[in-house]
Amino acid sequence: MGICIVPADTWIDPSRAVKRALVTHGHADHARGGHGQTMATPATLAIMAVRYGVADGAAPARYHEPIALAGGVTATFLPAGHVLGSAQILLEYAGERVIVTGDYKRSPDPTCLPFAVTPCDLFITEATFGLPVFRHPPIADEIERLLRARAANPERCVLVGAYALGKAQRVIAELRAAGWDAPIYLHGAMETMCRLYEEQGVPLGDLRPAVGVPKSELAGTIVICPPSALNDRWSRRLPDPLTAMASGWMRVRQRARQRGVELPLVISDHADWNELTTTIAEVNPAETWITHGREEALLRWCELHQRRARALALTGYEDEDD
Ligand SMILES: [Zn+2]
Ligand SMILES: [Zn+2]
Repeated sequence: MGICIVPADTWIDPSRAVKRALVTHGHADHARGGHGQTMATPATLAIMAVRYGVADGAAPARYHEPIALAGGVTATFLPAGHVLGSAQILLEYAGERVIVTGDYKRSPDPTCLPFAVTPCDLFITEATFGLPVFRHPPIADEIERLLRARAANPERCVLVGAYALGKAQRVIAELRAAGWDAPIYLHGAMETMCRLYEEQGVPLGDLRPAVGVPKSELAGTIVICPPSALNDRWSRRLPDPLTAMASGWMRVRQRARQRGVELPLVISDHADWNELTTTIAEVNPAETWITHGREEALLRWCELHQRRARALALTGYEDEDD
């Protein structure tokens, strides 16, 4: 259901409508519509407005600006490096500092501000990829593999499955950074969010709808679609698509096989094992609570490193993004 800040009678990322909510970022497992008041970064509010319609009670929170809540609690939104607008929330109350990370990553992302390492007493961290097996390679390497596959298959198009909020824009921005300046074609479900990113100051270059473009013109191009469209009727309009998918789960071969993915790209917007353990060491809190994923291994790591920690089981989170 999210995390309740009891003295302020306010919830963080509640999964059902409440009177007052602080929302870390726009993914559906964190942002829900219908709260009386929604405090979030301006970009997250813009994303929520697109997804849930404009709501009353939107209260913008700028990064690094402390906000007084009820009951003597102060909240400060800090960059989390996860997707555009994403935030960790620092809570200060009775001389204690608590950070709720929401989702985060440490690897660079041209579409959002980097995670801000901030000292605190209690650090509540996500653990989506909290197993040592999860090591995300540098994104430049994965983009390079994508571009090589395209060059090797001039008759086909490369169809990349990527979540519509965050992953798609990051893949596009990284393709641009790698020098790919040709048009990138989009599934209709991607268009609104890509436009929103551009309005928020993230340039994505020449984007075009894939619909209506003759098959022959799409040979040798890159097309981005939601993961659900990879193998559905929609993709039959494309010239013999070489299916790729950008997800941290692509590290697990079986997952790639299940989805019929020819080119698994290990690209994640969540911290991998290294990033999780490095972050806990850098933030260096007196206590760590682990949630939202695989808690056990990270809990063991904390114990081995003489760090106080406990696993928090939160219900209602099924990650939208990975
Ligand atoms: Zn997320
Ligand atoms: Zn999440």
